[in-house]
Order: sequence, then C-alpha cells, then structure tokens
Amino acid sequence: MTYINEQLEEEKVFKDPVHRYVHVRDRLIWDLIGTAEFQRLRRIRQLGTSFFTFHGAEHSRFNHSLGVYEVIRRIIENFQGREHWDNNERLLSLSAALLHDVGHGPFSHSFEKVFKLDHEEWTRAIIVGDTEINKVLRRVSEDFPKKVAEVIAKTYENKLVVSLISSQIDADRMDYLQRDAFYTGVSYGHFDMERILRVMRPTEDQVVIKKSGMHAVEDYIMSRYQMYWQVYFHPVTRSAEVILSKILHRAKEIYEAGYEFAQQPTHFFSLFKSDVSLKDYLSLDESVMMYYFQAWMNEKDSILRDLCTRFINRKLFKYIEFNPNTSYLQLVELINLFQKAGIDTNYYLEVDSSSDLPYDFYRPGEEGERIPIYLLMSNGELRELSRESEIVESISGKKRTDHKLYYPLDLIEDLPDNSDVKKRIKEILHG
Ligand code: ZN
Repeated sequence: MTYINEQLEEEKVFKDPVHRYVHVRDRLIWDLIGTAEFQRLRRIRQLGTSFFTFHGAEHSRFNHSLGVYEVIRRIIENFQGREHWDNNERLLSLSAALLHDVGHGPFSHSFEKVFKLDHEEWTRAIIVGDTEINKVLRRVSEDFPKKVAEVIAKTYENKLVVSLISSQIDADRMDYLQRDAFYTGVSYGHFDMERILRVMRPTEDQVVIKKSGMHAVEDYIMSRYQMYWQVYFHPVTRSAEVILSKILHRAKEIYEAGYEFAQQPTHFFSLFKSDVSLKDYLSLDESVMMYYFQAWMNEKDSILRDLCTRFINRKLFKYIEFNPNTSYLQLVELINLFQKAGIDTNYYLEVDSSSDLPYDFYRPGEEGERIPIYLLMSNGELRELSRESEIVESISGKKRTDHKLYYPLDLIEDLPDNSDVKKRIKEILHG
C-alpha cells in the first residue's frame, strides 16, 4: 500500500464544539497534525486581540485549521461519484485545507504590518522548506508539497479544488464564521452549513450552489456582514491592536537606537534586522510575545514600559468616531496639543480605519476580484448570486469604512486641571 492510500487502523476523532466531531482516517492527515509546525498553531489565537473584547475568544488557529479540514472532508464526501469531481484530488484538498493558515504569526495582523511580513509567503515556506510538514508531504511524492502550496496560493491548475478553500463561499469562511461566533458568544454568525453542503455541486472550475439553497447562502452572507462589524472590527479589539503595534514599533525603534534592554529581545533580533529565517519565524508564538510584554513592563524606557503595562493589564486607549479626511485640521491641532502636553503622538495618537466588502460580485478586470457565488438553476444555467437575491444585491460591492481616533484618556486626565491644553484637548475629543 502506498503512503497516500494508507488508512489508520481505527478512525481518530477530535471533539469539536462547532462541527461536533472532526474525523481523521488518512495516515497522511494524522501525520500532518502531529508535526511541530502544525502543533505551533495551538499557541496562536484565531482572533488575535479579540479576547480583550470577547473573553471567550481564546480559540486557536489549530482549532480553526482542523475545522476547515473537516468542512472540506464533508464537501468531498458529498461529491463522491459526481461529474467533475476527481477523487485523486481528495488528499491534496484535505492537506491544503489543514495547512492553509500554517504560516500565521503571533497576533498576525499587527505583527505582519510592523515587520512587513506576509503569512501567505510563510505558509509556502513552511510547506516547501525544511520542516516536518514538508517531510510528511514528500512521502506522498516529490512534487506534492509544491501542489499543496499552489492550492493555497490559488495558482493550482484545478480551479475547483482552489475554490473549495478560497472563494466567496469556501470552507475557510464557513468554518471561521461559525467558530468565531461560537467562541465570542455572539448571536450573529450562524447559518445552516449542513444545508449549504448538501446543495453544493462541483463544476469544471468551481463549486456552485443549487438554486434551492439560495436562502441558506443569503444567511451566510448576512452572517459574514454582521460578524465583520460586530466582532472583527470591534473598536475595543482595534484599540488593543493599536497598542500592540505601538509596542512592536517602540521595541524596534529603541533597539535600532542602541537601547540596552533589561530583558534582551532575542526572539525579535532577526525581525528587527528584517532577516528572519524559517527557524526564527517558527520559534515565535503568542506565549513568547506575551512573555516579553510582561518582562518589558519593567524596562527603563518609559514608553515601552507603559505600552506593555497597558496591554497586559488591559488599560486600552479610548476612541471617538473620527474621519481624518474631513477632520484633518482637528487632527493637526490635536498633534500640536499633545506635543505641548509632552505626550508622544507617535505612540499615543492613532487614526485606525477598517473596511470590508460583504459580498463582492464579479467585476471583470478589476483588481482583487474574488470568485463570485454562482447558483445552479433548474435548467442547468449558472447565475451570479446577486442577480437572483435581492438581499445580496442590496449589499453587493458596497464598501463601508469606519474611522476611529485612539488616545490615552488617562494621560490627558493626568494633566493639571487649570491647563488650557487639557481643556482644548477635551473639547476636541468630546466635541
Ligand atoms: Zn483560515
């Protein structure tokens, strides 16, 4: 028996609060789960700093990755024997599902921005580089790691396989919407995935949905819309995110200026120098980062010390609605006032903007277009979802942006009561 066909003697099951059980029967999948790089995902939260807002949101990327694998496993089970589905692609699809997020770093959102890293590139590096994952994949065939990386990068020749993992309605989104709703405890984010799985059909180059499943898909689109605004872009989560970015910036800045850390940031050296090896990258996780933040609460540098104390003890920045495009002059005035008050605006004043397209239908030739959702009509014709659904049509392609200004209210309150600077800052912030 070849490795790709090798089955476990007994099926393994993981208890999962979202999908009830995750079933593993293939030796390959079981071996991938056991690798050091996959186990590392246990130490990276799925929702970054959201746990400051929703205390249940401590679930990891390990959680989510198993979930995406399970969703794909069920989709493929339903595809058995259908036209256009080639069962030789089964283990490739399952491996790509399991590994699609393996390159995420700790608190990836801020982390990637500050150090100019891209988790997709690291995912590829982990799959094709010198890792345990690569060794397992190569047991299938020499070119198998490359194929898995291609599916994740959306360049694989079989677009049906790609669409299972990345499209407007893919296993990734279906898992994280439900999982994030479950762990945050919000009532949005629920939709009938079982129904969607039953009406999914393979075509030559993508998954489509039988027309009879349209309302389940509408629910899914709405849940995505709700989750973005109620959970993912929550202003308190973003406040923690702002502080986290400032910590990383500060640590890098003072390191470059030759500051002597009481707690040497050994894990960060290669990041500060923008020369990160795969080994360096894999040694980082959120436990490691939190360790440094705790240690840095005792640094001589008052900004690093203060920001870390804020992060560890959840003393977050306050915020107001603030559109930098229309309130530009106020922002300039605030910067001046903060400087007069001796508050460093590089670290203590930040405009943050979030935006999302809830459903982006096909617009040929436009950059960054996503694979749209097609409905399979009873006469065999395919119709793009927003042409059939009024609900989806009404939110299609509409980008909404939310701007907030973050600032440390406590530092402003600490200014002397009779100071004009304090009065004016408060006037601007509290309108
Ligand atoms: Zn994912």
